[in-house]
Amino acid sequence: DPLTVHVPLDGGRAYDIMIGRGLIDAAGPHMAALGARRAAIVTDENVGALYAGRLQDSLGRSGLNSGIVTVAPGEGSKSYAGYAQVCDGLLALKVERGDLVVALGGGVVGDLAGFAAATLRRGVRFVQVPTSLLAQVDSSVGGKTGINAPLGKNLIGAFHQPRLVLADTAAVDTLSEREMRAGYAEVAKYGLIADPGFFDWCEAHWRGIFSGGPERDAAVAACCRAKAAVVTRDEREDGERALLNLGHTFGHALERLTGYDAARLVHGEGVAIGMALAFRFSARLGLCAGQDAGRVANHLALAGLPTRLQAVPGGCGDADAILDAMAQDKKVRDGALTFILARGIGQSFIAPGVDRAEVAAFLRDEL
Ligand code: NAD
Ligand code: ZN
Repeated sequence: DPLTVHVPLDGGRAYDIMIGRGLIDAAGPHMAALGARRAAIVTDENVGALYAGRLQDSLGRSGLNSGIVTVAPGEGSKSYAGYAQVCDGLLALKVERGDLVVALGGGVVGDLAGFAAATLRRGVRFVQVPTSLLAQVDSSVGGKTGINAPLGKNLIGAFHQPRLVLADTAAVDTLSEREMRAGYAEVAKYGLIADPGFFDWCEAHWRGIFSGGPERDAAVAACCRAKAAVVTRDEREDGERALLNLGHTFGHALERLTGYDAARLVHGEGVAIGMALAFRFSARLGLCAGQDAGRVANHLALAGLPTRLQAVPGGCGDADAILDAMAQDKKVRDGALTFILARGIGQSFIAPGVDRAEVAAFLRDEL
């Protein structure tokens, strides 16, 4: 039986996240229960080739007709051109209010299809069927949708909550080892933010998450529960939702400095380095024990993730270059930076007003 996480929102809105192996083949009744007669599946070429036909068959068995819009895989599709392609594709399928837009894929497809659904005909209901580990534990939950602009990532977007999330944990079996590790960085993140017991559990059980044992379902459910709790309390990121950015201020800077070139660095790798840096920086500031920082880096390294700036292929420039790249982040204002720092494992907090010079000195020592 699938695990279910219920996500209550303001104004009586709510949705369920269902987690389990085989949910793509069992999707029909769950989507039919939303009362729609037609669905439009948005996917990318990789995921579509593996799962779109099976999803379509399952919907068909429950009396739901569906069409498919397929985009190229990769971050490049989260663009004005990709958005136009998806909207035009959905309109060609005659998608109307009352139909369902179904995002079948990783975070790229989820963000893109979600944004198209938010804006097409001023809003069409949408369902997430996340297929990457990252999408199952992070991007499919919370209602943030959007695309990139030439001047920066995720600059165009909307909050549009899904009506249902179906996380088929068996679909993750076909994910590449590297994407698996990158998604795992976000799993470990939840323990580091506020749940030391979950981090202990990850240290003991991470291999089961990778191999597709029952640990994977348990971990996805735990992460969705943690993210859903934060989103329920702070849907629009006015406050504590920022904790989810642990490791991301450094991580985003590294992604920017490597030109968002997935061949060099993928998001989760940047986050892994960023989390290790956040803990070492916290230790240097005397906020947390050096032992905790060591434990974080050791665990991420054991799972095959990078934890040092030197690990960035092709390098990432000097301390000033990293600071400049961080200063473009929307969480950074004037000479003071907002960081997520930690008093220990599972004890992260929002630290506004971190001195730029302090960060610079730290980065110089790290390099
Ligand atoms: P992705 O969607 O590009 O997927 C990674 C790769 O794996 C792609 O090549 C994809 O085709 C492939 N893939 C996905 N599922 C597969 C499967 N089951 N089998 C085989 N291949 C599969 O990247 P991602 O890491 O899933 O998501 C990254 C995106 O998510 C970024 O654009 C990021 O901005 C966004 N994101 C959004 C939020 C949010 O709250 N909306 C949160 C975090 C990240
Ligand atoms: Zn992330």
